[in-house]
Amino acid sequence: MAFTKRGFPDFRAAVMARALACLAACVALQIASPAAAQVERFDNFRMRKAVPTQLKQVAPDLYFLYDDISSNSAFLVTDEGVLVIDTRQHPAHGRDLIERIRAVTDKPIKWAINTHAHGDHFLGNPAFKAIGTTIIAHRDTVAGMLKNEDLEVRRRMAFFKSMKLDPAEAKMVLPDLTFDSKLTIKLGNRVVEIMYLGPGQNPGDTLVYFPHARALYVGGPFANHNWSNMSFTPSIDGWIALLKKIADMDNGDIYLPGHGDVGKRDDVLLEARLLTDVQSEVKAALAAGMSKDEMVAKLRFPQYANLRNYDRINVFIEALYHLYTTGKPLFPYP
Ligand SMILES: [Zn+2]
Repeated sequence: MAFTKRGFPDFRAAVMARALACLAACVALQIASPAAAQVERFDNFRMRKAVPTQLKQVAPDLYFLYDDISSNSAFLVTDEGVLVIDTRQHPAHGRDLIERIRAVTDKPIKWAINTHAHGDHFLGNPAFKAIGTTIIAHRDTVAGMLKNEDLEVRRRMAFFKSMKLDPAEAKMVLPDLTFDSKLTIKLGNRVVEIMYLGPGQNPGDTLVYFPHARALYVGGPFANHNWSNMSFTPSIDGWIALLKKIADMDNGDIYLPGHGDVGKRDDVLLEARLLTDVQSEVKAALAAGMSKDEMVAKLRFPQYANLRNYDRINVFIEALYHLYTTGKPLFPYP
C-alpha cells in the first residue's frame, strides 16, 4: 500500500478549524438572513416513485448497491477481506449495507472509501467505524466534511424524516486515512487503485478503479441519468474535462455512479454534454444581462427534463449564477 504522509490531516488543527468554522457560520447566519434562506431552499428533498434498492454483482467479486432514492455504494469481496465504497446516507443505511455484505461473505470489512464530502455518501461512517473498518478519503474531501458538516446534516432532515431515520444518529465520523493523488491497495488476490485526478463535482472527488473488472467507481462527478448538484464545483469546465478523461480511458468498461444505475461510456458523456449545454445557456443569459431570477424563470433545458433531480434545476441555475458572477462555488472548500 502506498500513500503520502503529507495527506494525513492534523486533527488538532482540524478540530480548531471546525470550531472556528462553526463560530463563523453561526455569526454569518445571524447577520445574513438571505444566505440562511438560500441554505433552507437547498434542502428540498421530495419523495418520488423510485426504483427499489437492489444489489447487483457487476463483475467477479464486485457488487454495486443501486439505491435510487438515496445514494449508491459498492464493495469488493476477497479472501482477505472486504473493501467498501461510500457508506450511504445514515448509520442505519450503513448497517443495512453491512448486512448485505454479510449475506455474501463473513470476511472482515477492512476498508471503506468516502468518494466525496456529501453526507449522502459518508453519513453511514459510524456503522463501519463501530466494526473496526479503516475509512479513507482524499484530504480535500476531509476538508469539505469539516467545513460543511452542519450543512450536510441539516439539508438531509427532510430525507431522514421521510425515511423514519433518527436525525440524532447522523453524526460525522471523519476518515482515518487521507491521500493526495493515488493509493493502491492490495487485498487478497485483487488490486484496487484509488485515484484523484482533480475536482469534478467537488474538490477531492475520488475515483476507484478495479483492474480485474475494468470497472471505475465515479462517486461525485458521474450521476447516471441524473442532474448533479452544481453548488460545490470550482469549475464546470474542469468537471467536463474529468468526465471526458474517464470516458476515454482505454481500460474502462463499467462506470459505477454515485447516483443512478450502472453506466457505460456513453452515459458518462451524456453528463458531460448536459454540463456543457447548461453552462453555455447560463453564460449566454449572463452575457445578455439576465438577472438570476429571470434565468430561474426562463431557462428550462427540456432536452434533459426526463432526468432525475430535474425538479431541482432552479437550485442548480442559482449555483451556476453564483459561480460565474463571483468566481467561487456557492459552498467553497477546502
Ligand atoms: Zn450524492
